[in-house]
Amino acid sequence: MMVISWEQLKPHTEQCANLSVLHLLQVEAAVAAAKEAFPGWSARSPEQRAQVLNKLADLLDANLEEFAQAESRDQGKTVTFARTVDIPRSAYNFRFFASSLLHHTNDCSQMDHMGCLNYTIRCPVGVAGLISPWNLPLYLLTWKVAPAIAAGNTVVAKPSEMTSVTAWMMCKLMQQAGVPPGVVNIVFGTGPKAGDALVGHPDVPLVSFTGSTATAQCITERSAPYCKKLSLELGGKNPAIIFADADLDRCIETTVRSSFSNQGEICLCTSRIYVERSIYSEFLERFVAAAKKWKTGVPSDTGNDNGALISKEHLEKVRSFVALAKSEGGTVHCGEGVNKLDLSERNAKGYFMPATVITGISDSSRVMQEEIFGPVTCVSPFDTEEEAVSKGNGVRYGLGATVWSQDVGKVHRMARKIQAGMVWTNCWLVRDLNLPFGGMKNSGVGREGGKDSFHFFTEVKTVTIKH
Ligand code: NAD
Repeated sequence: MMVISWEQLKPHTEQCANLSVLHLLQVEAAVAAAKEAFPGWSARSPEQRAQVLNKLADLLDANLEEFAQAESRDQGKTVTFARTVDIPRSAYNFRFFASSLLHHTNDCSQMDHMGCLNYTIRCPVGVAGLISPWNLPLYLLTWKVAPAIAAGNTVVAKPSEMTSVTAWMMCKLMQQAGVPPGVVNIVFGTGPKAGDALVGHPDVPLVSFTGSTATAQCITERSAPYCKKLSLELGGKNPAIIFADADLDRCIETTVRSSFSNQGEICLCTSRIYVERSIYSEFLERFVAAAKKWKTGVPSDTGNDNGALISKEHLEKVRSFVALAKSEGGTVHCGEGVNKLDLSERNAKGYFMPATVITGISDSSRVMQEEIFGPVTCVSPFDTEEEAVSKGNGVRYGLGATVWSQDVGKVHRMARKIQAGMVWTNCWLVRDLNLPFGGMKNSGVGREGGKDSFHFFTEVKTVTIKH
């Protein structure tokens, strides 16, 4: 394991004309270390690699509380969320890929009439560049590191500059788990500097990126001259489509969770809710009542469902969408500007925002078209199945969707027609990591998860033997 810290780089700073050079040096040194470590790590047996990944998972489990506290302090999410979602899932990412790496088989085809046997083999690619966002910091970083090293690659990973603490803490665990020097290198820095240097490095043939669609466009352009392999997991504007025969109790409880969890800072959060007109009024009344009960406040208080948003700038951006909705004639039923949060004087200036429900917005409004990435959701009625599909698909994104109905035929029809990489019916965010995760349209390119991650982090070769 190699970590390049600011301290280690201090000697270079005197020679550096500016910070950009420092970032370049940092990435340069990390890529060189990863390149050097690649032959040794890729030559290890799957069992040997799995052992190291399992050890890492055990260490994360053993240090769960320390990591959960740090993730909450760094990101603003509640400690409860970090303790029950972020850190357990980070450990599970290592455990899952440690196991899945042992269960891959390749294709084989006989061509006896030609005297040939064909089969495929999969080889690790080399140094993988991994770039992750701030909303689920360790969860999403490990979702990339685990499959990349399981497949035999070495990595240079860049966590978000907004939330790097748990990545830094994990470096120590990597050493304890026996990850050899140079196999996992974490670089800390901003996107336009450290991130850009990583994407543009000629010795990094593959980049797995999770973040905004705008950054993905920069990455695609930057990597184009090198024809790099790219996996892009991007933003969403996810619809919930609720039919009159839905189990409303379960639907409302889940849709509140899917709209507001983690302050609405999950790419899969529901931000457009379309409800069949015959149950629209009942749904709205009950949904607003439930949203009002979603508690926002100090992240360390176990009674709170949401903590603080990531930054002042982000809070202002999210608030600006609510202001826009109002200026367009929308009704804010609860949340921003309606109910005041119960905060002490000390916390009054925190970046808190209550769960906000809006109606009366046209589908073409920016509020209904753009990713808000905060605790804001809009509710609107529909009359027919066709209209629900058209509204659901009427944005440039295609990440996740939820469909609520007891009619199996209907949910299956909807799943085929909805433009989204993941369609959850009568539930949300239930994940089997074996199955593909990713988006269509502006929500991404490629899929990750079980076999898909393994395929992304390896190159397949077809071998033909004449016998
Ligand atoms: P972002 O695009 O601003 O940053 C993501 C990462 O990219 C950060 O590490 C950042 O430093 C880096 N980066 C920024 N500019 C770069 C550049 N020019 N070159 C290389 N790297 C660069 O995104 P964010 O604000 O951190 O995260 C929020 C976004 O992430 C939302 O759009 C959300 O939907 C998306 N997201 C998607 C998924 C998914 O799985 N589809 C999951 C979580 C978050």
